[in-house]
Amino acid sequence: MGKIAVLDDNLVNMIAAGEVIERPASVVKELMENSIDAGARRIVVQVEQGGRDLIRVSDDGCGIAFEDLPLAFEPHATSKIRTSEDLLRIATMGFRGEALASIAAVSRLVMVSRPADSIQAGRIEIDCGQKSLPVPAAGPVGTAVEVRQLFYKLPARRKFLRSANTEMTHVVEQFTRIALAYPELELVLEHGGRTVYSLRAGRSPAERIGVLFPSAVAEDLLEVRRQEKAIAVQALLGRPDRARTSSSYQYIFLNRRYIRDKFILHAFKEAYRGLIEPQKHPVVFLFLQMPPELFDVNVHPTKTEVRFENANWVYSQVLSALRDKLLSTELPTAGTVPASAASFHTDDPLEELLQKDREGRIRQAMNDFFQSHSAGTAVQKKLPFSPVPPADWKPTEVGESKNESVPFACLQIHNSYLVLPTADGFEVIDQHALHERILYERLCAAAEAGPLASQRLLVPVILDVSDAQLDALRRAASLVGKLGIEWDLFGPRSIAVHSFPVLLEGLSVEEYIQDMLDAFLDKGSDVDEEQLLAEVLERAACRAAVKAGQPLTAAEIEQLLADRKLAETPGRCPHGRPTSLVFTLKELEKQFKRTGF
Ligand code: ADP
Ligand code: MG
Repeated sequence: MGKIAVLDDNLVNMIAAGEVIERPASVVKELMENSIDAGARRIVVQVEQGGRDLIRVSDDGCGIAFEDLPLAFEPHATSKIRTSEDLLRIATMGFRGEALASIAAVSRLVMVSRPADSIQAGRIEIDCGQKSLPVPAAGPVGTAVEVRQLFYKLPARRKFLRSANTEMTHVVEQFTRIALAYPELELVLEHGGRTVYSLRAGRSPAERIGVLFPSAVAEDLLEVRRQEKAIAVQALLGRPDRARTSSSYQYIFLNRRYIRDKFILHAFKEAYRGLIEPQKHPVVFLFLQMPPELFDVNVHPTKTEVRFENANWVYSQVLSALRDKLLSTELPTAGTVPASAASFHTDDPLEELLQKDREGRIRQAMNDFFQSHSAGTAVQKKLPFSPVPPADWKPTEVGESKNESVPFACLQIHNSYLVLPTADGFEVIDQHALHERILYERLCAAAEAGPLASQRLLVPVILDVSDAQLDALRRAASLVGKLGIEWDLFGPRSIAVHSFPVLLEGLSVEEYIQDMLDAFLDKGSDVDEEQLLAEVLERAACRAAVKAGQPLTAAEIEQLLADRKLAETPGRCPHGRPTSLVFTLKELEKQFKRTGF
């Protein structure tokens, strides 16, 4: 007798369920999406034991007609699409018609539903795919679905469920995604009878972020809005100094559907490049809107991956919207002066005049100060209380200051900082950070032009590596080549490195390669070539830049300041730290409590 048999429908559904229903959180997602598609204004999600025991989702949506109740659980039963044309412009969350069938195939499910035009509800029970006949029942307009004992007939699947706490974390994450995308809905989440979130119907995602996330994530977000032809980009961006060690605060929504997209995540990284330390992750909430025919959501059963018709275009739209915002925003530097010092407005015209006059006098005083000190040695005598040892004062003339008529002095103090007057205050520059930035930008330009120059090591460096490291090294072969690193096997668990980038000359080859291998392993299969290249260049820039504590000649200072003018992002070192702090007269006046002048 033959061995091949066709599986019955029920078994097929059980197997298919695995694709969509992975854990309680997937059930929550599918049921909430159905409620949204049904036009609900209010959705209540109740779970027990992280959803392992019970998931109940009730809504006030359009309901399901009594005679349709069994149909809703047939595989590929959907009210949302009819023809293949419809697939090209999907406006609903669901369309595959498989969620209910899948969930019902692997749990004990009860649905009670009542359409608005019906005087009573209908109830249907399904036990691992076995349907009961629908019966009339009492219930409000809308639909309630109860899912108990997920995977109870599939012990192997059930074993994969984690603790109630872990499952609950996933449930909260799914709930959060929907809450962000649908701020106009009233949403409630309860766990074990306790309210986790009770979200009033609101207007904007920003309101929701304030409730759903810790203040360190939610506060001071920068808002971006841009409409460019067919794509609308809206984003809430964390300030660079609020970047996180985890990437879990990066959300992408496309037409209100949460998606993961490597390309767009990369655009986030690019937008913040140079503004934050490379191993940190910015906080980004991105909301994209585009016509459904420009992408395909029907790529993956859970619909979190999409295929864009023109991914490059989407990438560059997102990158430029974010980057423009970040570069045009005055980002906070170290918390030196209280923010309140910046606002100085008054309605009294006389007070305003006096204030202007005061500012003028402060400016004059500062000009005088810097002018008299440009004479060099005079400084020592005139400043008996200077905390700076005289040898550290190194004034230099800087012709091109904002105030063209007065040649200003630039002072190097403690061989580490440059102090430079500006038109309305003064600036303290971190010489190392600034030089590092300038060099980094040059190196990036050089690397873009071609592969990095490498030099052959006189004696190869032998390194012990694990199997996993070796594997990672092989996978990253093309990047390693671009860096100018040549290596080959040297025994079963060691490699010989033969050449190394000229830029990194002076670094320990062993240390560098070990670091690089760690980075490869951390990043798993998706080593980001550009990111790693950027890191190499950062190290090189850091190593080559003037150090703190290094005396500079007047010509060197002048060169540094001239180069700064040509730099693209002179305000931040490659690790994202500020290169200079600016103090305005207003701030000074505030600090002096207006008594100084
Ligand atoms: P899909 O959402 O892909 O259409 P589902 O299996 O999730 O497939 O749902 C099947 C059908 O059941 C839907 O097309 C819809 O007509 C109906 N349905 C499911 N949930 C609800 C609900 N909460 N309110 C009204 N109708 C629903
Ligand atoms: Mg659905």
